[in-house]
Amino acid sequence: MTVCPNCGREVMGYLNFCPNCGHPLRSLDRAYPYRSTSKVRDPRITFLIGMIPGLIGIYGLGHFYIGKTIRGLVLFLMGVLVFNRIFLGLLLYLLVAGWGGESDLYGYLPWLILGALVGIAQAFDSFFLSRKYNAIVTKGGMTPW
Ligand SMILES: [Zn+2]
Repeated sequence: MTVCPNCGREVMGYLNFCPNCGHPLRSLDRAYPYRSTSKVRDPRITFLIGMIPGLIGIYGLGHFYIGKTIRGLVLFLMGVLVFNRIFLGLLLYLLVAGWGGESDLYGYLPWLILGALVGIAQAFDSFFLSRKYNAIVTKGGMTPW
């Protein structure tokens, strides 16, 4: 039980408004949970979550973070199927065949760079999507996708 600050009547603690006088008993953010800022995703965090694993070919984590699941899944699978094979291929090659000099690295280098560039690009994509997401969530409430 709690006491209404407006009319002084005892009311149930879980209520958002006093049933006697209608006075709000919580901050408006909690009285209107759909306007809550708790769903907001920090674009910088989204970017880092997408970026750091993205540099080694693990894509889509920033998209998962903001609920863009399908696009995140496509990116993730792309990373697993395509680019992680390049990294694993390089690793296995070095383990099995040993280091064959600079020519080995030059063969993989374009793929490593391409993999990292795609990682950066998809991190920026999740960054801009998170800003769009936040704009919709703070304005209307429902998650946009
Ligand atoms: Zn009251």
